[in-house]
Amino acid sequence: MESKTIVLASNNQHKLKEFKEILTDYKILTLNDIGYYEEIEETGETFLENALIKAKTIHDYLKKQNLNYLIVAEDSGLCVDSLDGAPGVYSARYMGVHGNDQGNRDKLQQELKNKKRDAYFICTIVVYYPDGNYQSFVGKTYGRITDEEIGNKDFGYDCIFYSNDLEKTFGEATEEEKNSVSHRGRAIVEMVKRL
Ligand code: IMP
Repeated sequence: MESKTIVLASNNQHKLKEFKEILTDYKILTLNDIGYYEEIEETGETFLENALIKAKTIHDYLKKQNLNYLIVAEDSGLCVDSLDGAPGVYSARYMGVHGNDQGNRDKLQQELKNKKRDAYFICTIVVYYPDGNYQSFVGKTYGRITDEEIGNKDFGYDCIFYSNDLEKTFGEATEEEKNSVSHRGRAIVEMVKRL
């Protein structure tokens, strides 16, 4: 079973839940489970750089304890074409403060006045091996930003992202529906093919 254990380098409960829903064959350890409680600063300029920062930080932490788990790190965000890809890597802190989802959505609505609303979510996953090698996987999902919040999901931009695949917002979708077309779901499927 050891080979089926993964350390997920994230404290985001929404992401953790989605990984657990899709990776049902794997035992997923969280940062809390391995006793890592610090914030990992995302200083990269790309999703891959940020995912690698998270993976490498946890790799170094585990190595000090002689633990050889497979590490899975991800970085994701929303990119709006008419805003040159913003909020992009700043999706979690678009309004200036990390993790204020309502503030981030409000700021996006301000920025989008009289602009085209086509957008996509992107997720980059890094699988980091104990020997320091890694593989990366990317998933994308396309849609547009609605001008009203629709649905009762409170994660990030879910309630203002109308999915072209589902023909409704992620805020209205069930967990299964979202996972079947989401950027994270698609990146995880690619990752599982190679594990
Ligand atoms: P990070 O990967 O921890 O930097 O955070 C990514 C940010 O992008 C989240 O805090 C959300 O604001 C946004 N985001 C990423 N994936 C999703 C999603 O599936 N639904 C809604 N918002 C998301």
